[in-house]
Amino acid sequence: MIIDCHGHYTTAPKAHDDWRAAQTAAFKNGGDVDPAYPAISDDEIRESLEANQLRLLRERGADMTIFSPRASTMAHHVGNEAVSKAWTRRCNDLIKRVVDLYPETFIGVCQLPQSPGVSVAHSIEELERCVTELGFVGCNLNPDPSGGHWTAPPLTDRAWYPFFEKMVELDVPAMIHVSGSCNANFHATGAHYINADTTAFMQFLEGDLFRDFPTLRFIIPHGGGAVPYHWGRYRGLADMLKKPPLREHVMRNVYFDTCVYHQPGIDLLFKVIDLDNILFGSEMVGAVRGIDPETGNYFDDTKRYIDALPIPDADKQKVFSGNARRVYPRLDASLKARGL
Ligand SMILES: [Zn+2]
Repeated sequence: MIIDCHGHYTTAPKAHDDWRAAQTAAFKNGGDVDPAYPAISDDEIRESLEANQLRLLRERGADMTIFSPRASTMAHHVGNEAVSKAWTRRCNDLIKRVVDLYPETFIGVCQLPQSPGVSVAHSIEELERCVTELGFVGCNLNPDPSGGHWTAPPLTDRAWYPFFEKMVELDVPAMIHVSGSCNANFHATGAHYINADTTAFMQFLEGDLFRDFPTLRFIIPHGGGAVPYHWGRYRGLADMLKKPPLREHVMRNVYFDTCVYHQPGIDLLFKVIDLDNILFGSEMVGAVRGIDPETGNYFDDTKRYIDALPIPDADKQKVFSGNARRVYPRLDASLKARGL
């Protein structure tokens, strides 16, 4: 079985985005930031997926996608807490409709109603709703709701603890995932995303979060940002900071996906990082949608790169599904309930 741990609904029906445009306009004009939501038919949702994610899943030979709202439009920095809350509910409810239409192919992960300067504790209610009522198996946690200005405390700060306590209680992991950038220095998917991945890892290294939360789990996407490439630097920093080796200090709780869009990057990831810490992901249809002229294949067809690795099939199976089932116990339970 092949489970893609990193997919967003980047092709949501236009009416959904129109609602968001109306909402943000209402915020500027002092109007209702939770206007009536348009009727979107099941067929519109099916069309938006059949031509895109579902077609590519079938073509590439994957079975399932852990699916969440579009990350770049979470835009926690837009509006205020009420804006973020209303938008987040609409986005998560739309994911629930996708999962209901294709329960064998998609399983939900939620966006959170974060907002700059607002305690992440205010996101607990939505996490709980999505996990216990909608059947979602994880969340996307934004370490920088300011959109590129980094005004929130590090992830190891106690300000995040109430949220982490709830994650542990519900037994769900979080993918560390920033959203759009409103800082012109940082291109969203080319710089801000990769910065955030790298930054989150260094915060975990510098702190002692997993001493307080031994079962807390995070997926750092995009191959772990710059971390695998600079693994010696991080091992050396852990040593200088008098931390235990990374294997004990961070890597019992942190996983990287395979959203690295070329073979040499995947080769390096697998050479440096333990297999048990790597989850198959493609982030399609996402940041890089084109075809690599050097190979003739889609950049984000990451399954090909793993298929090409000279490692045993049993190891590939861990990366394709075993590790995801371990990191997302609620996904595992749902598959077992289906006899898988
Ligand atoms: Zn993503």
